[in-house]
Amino acid sequence: MTIHLLGTGASVSDVDRTTTMLAFEEAEQFFLVDCGADAARELARAELDPTRLEAIVLTHEHPDHVSGFALLIEKMWLLGRREPIPVYGPASAIQVAQTCFGAYATDRWEGLPAREYHEIPMASGELVFETDAFRVTSSPVDHPVPTVGLRVETTSGAIAAYSADTAKVDAVVDLARGASVLVHEATGHLPGVHASAEEAAETARDAGVDRLLLVHIPPGCSDDDLVTARSIFPHTSWGHDGQAVSVQSSEAAPLAPEARSIPL
Ligand SMILES: [Zn+2]
Ligand SMILES: [Zn+2]
Repeated sequence: MTIHLLGTGASVSDVDRTTTMLAFEEAEQFFLVDCGADAARELARAELDPTRLEAIVLTHEHPDHVSGFALLIEKMWLLGRREPIPVYGPASAIQVAQTCFGAYATDRWEGLPAREYHEIPMASGELVFETDAFRVTSSPVDHPVPTVGLRVETTSGAIAAYSADTAKVDAVVDLARGASVLVHEATGHLPGVHASAEEAAETARDAGVDRLLLVHIPPGCSDDDLVTARSIFPHTSWGHDGQAVSVQSSEAAPLAPEARSIPL
């Protein structure tokens, strides 16, 4: 499996980071997680054809995770997508996506693909969807609005987890248990809202993952935070926009070279 870090910024992003968005790819299938900015552009940069998206998962309703939804659908349509697009998320996130898209007059958009909305229940270990390549499950995390973290397993045995926006919470430990890679937000310590790099490292350590990648990074973040995180969990790195991360199955799991060299 490859995780594409399409964006790694917080809600206030900067010239180097757009809003946090991810794509998970396995055997030429891929799906998108969140679209707070121009997801189609970032998919193209990752050499992923937006018209071939298997699914869109919206982790929660906040603008930095949903506001690019209408643009993404428009671009997929203009690029030739005609098959329906499954969209998964908590009820409130689905409602925001529907409302935003519904604000546009699309009656004359001939061939506009249907959006198939699927509500993710706010319960631990919910199956979000399953395909030939992926099994995706979710659990609620700790954020001011209904938000789900994700566990992504492939049929080849690779496992990864994504915290979404959350304060430090045991649910992410459970989602990431046995995973090779945890992608965790690191906006900064804010109880009930966001987590620090140090707290993400504690979660990675407690889950026993091989590697931690930090995302949802605000402008001006300090490498001192990374040094602190590494004192808790050594294989921690900042995620970077456009970074592609290979995830091996846990048994085989040789650490990626970049993890061994531990770049900032
Ligand atoms: Zn956010
Ligand atoms: Zn949020």
